[in-house]
Amino acid sequence: MVHRTARVGLRVTSGQRRRCFGLLRSAGDVWACVLEVNTWRRRRQDAPLTSYQELCRELSASGPGTFGELDSTGGRSVLRRFSDAWFAAAGRRKAGDVSARFPRRRRGLVPVRWYHGTFTLDGRRVRIPTARGTGPLWVRLARKVPYPVDQVRSITLLCEGGRLFLDVTAEVPITVYPPGEEPDPTRAAGVDVGIIHPYAVAGPGGEALLVSGRAIRAEHRMHLADTKARQRAAARRAPKPGQRGSRRWRKYRVRVRRVEGRHRRRVRQAQHEAARTVIGWAVDQRVGMLKVGDPRGVLDLSAGRRHNLRLRQWQIGRLLQILTDKAALAGITVHLVDERGTSSTCPACRKRVSKPRGRTLSCPHCQFSGHRDIVAAASIATRTPGGGSTTPTAVVLPGVVTHRRVGRHLPGAGRSRRDPRRPPGDVRVRMARCGPPHPLVGSRSPNQRGSTTTHRTPGER
Ligand SMILES: [Zn+2]
Repeated sequence: MVHRTARVGLRVTSGQRRRCFGLLRSAGDVWACVLEVNTWRRRRQDAPLTSYQELCRELSASGPGTFGELDSTGGRSVLRRFSDAWFAAAGRRKAGDVSARFPRRRRGLVPVRWYHGTFTLDGRRVRIPTARGTGPLWVRLARKVPYPVDQVRSITLLCEGGRLFLDVTAEVPITVYPPGEEPDPTRAAGVDVGIIHPYAVAGPGGEALLVSGRAIRAEHRMHLADTKARQRAAARRAPKPGQRGSRRWRKYRVRVRRVEGRHRRRVRQAQHEAARTVIGWAVDQRVGMLKVGDPRGVLDLSAGRRHNLRLRQWQIGRLLQILTDKAALAGITVHLVDERGTSSTCPACRKRVSKPRGRTLSCPHCQFSGHRDIVAAASIATRTPGGGSTTPTAVVLPGVVTHRRVGRHLPGAGRSRRDPRRPPGDVRVRMARCGPPHPLVGSRSPNQRGSTTTHRTPGER
């Protein structure tokens, strides 16, 4: 059994919306109280209250009605969140990570979780538990929960970008395969995680999979261009520090939050699609073990270094997490291996090759040539998790490469998905659709200045 979570939007009336936000705000109050209690204790040089049981005792001492409509189960889930965050930080600090922070910041809205038995799930309707003496709070879900009701273990009410969501967590059994079709643990594939291609996979029999993330990068790029344009347009309206913003300014802030949320959801869905493609391919190939090159050691992400925007947008940790989760459900094991040198070593003669500028790795020593990410994945497949390269196994170079794209839902990804952020007659959209740009269209004329600046020809970078 593995736990999976689906985020479902809520359809609420204004009254229900007010009550839901009341619950989140009350949870924020619980959070703030815990912080405050611990501030006092620190001043008196007492040990902080951190264990879940101690905090629960404190909460029940506050009596009913202190936190609005929030019931004690919901209040305790906030304490659980605090306690988990505190002990996670303590564990990381003990392990030598000085950048780990204890929870200190107040938050206006804190997500609330309820466990099985306290809520009611009835098709698309959910009854959210509230404190005794208050009316029942039923809300509608925007879509059906993708799990059978008897597998649902908890629900979490949260707000993202000004919208209400319910995270539904279920305990899902691991996939059962017909005999002879289950993943074979002795069949291992190497996975290279990258920016241009979120996943490049090299399988045991010479097959390979290349997942293109162009649509994700395009979404990031267009979102950045839009954000900059919006900020330029709104800069004049920005209130001075201490000044209350105008109504127009507040409306602008609301729109920013909504657009940010939509952008995040779009990218997240494409990342899930990419991981699903990899797992589907692995199941077809009966691959039972994925060796994933972990680039975080090479990048030195933990040292608190600043990185450029592209690297941050890559979200490597999440890509690894999503892949691991989906693999667990499919009954495939995932091992992280050191990927040092895999993209700069020739697989045929094992000599160092300077980092190629394009996608093709060409060896100057032995005339080997192949796709850079797939070559890296093939090298990763020969590594052993945890250990160094003991006895180097021969690299199996892929002969058959399957190409997949993710992010078909993203605007601008296909002809039918016109980007609503771009006007229909936009020269950039036409250029992107008609393949190689016409020399006259691409040339800049004085009256088009600015409109062509964000365009890049496909395949650039
Ligand atoms: Zn070579």
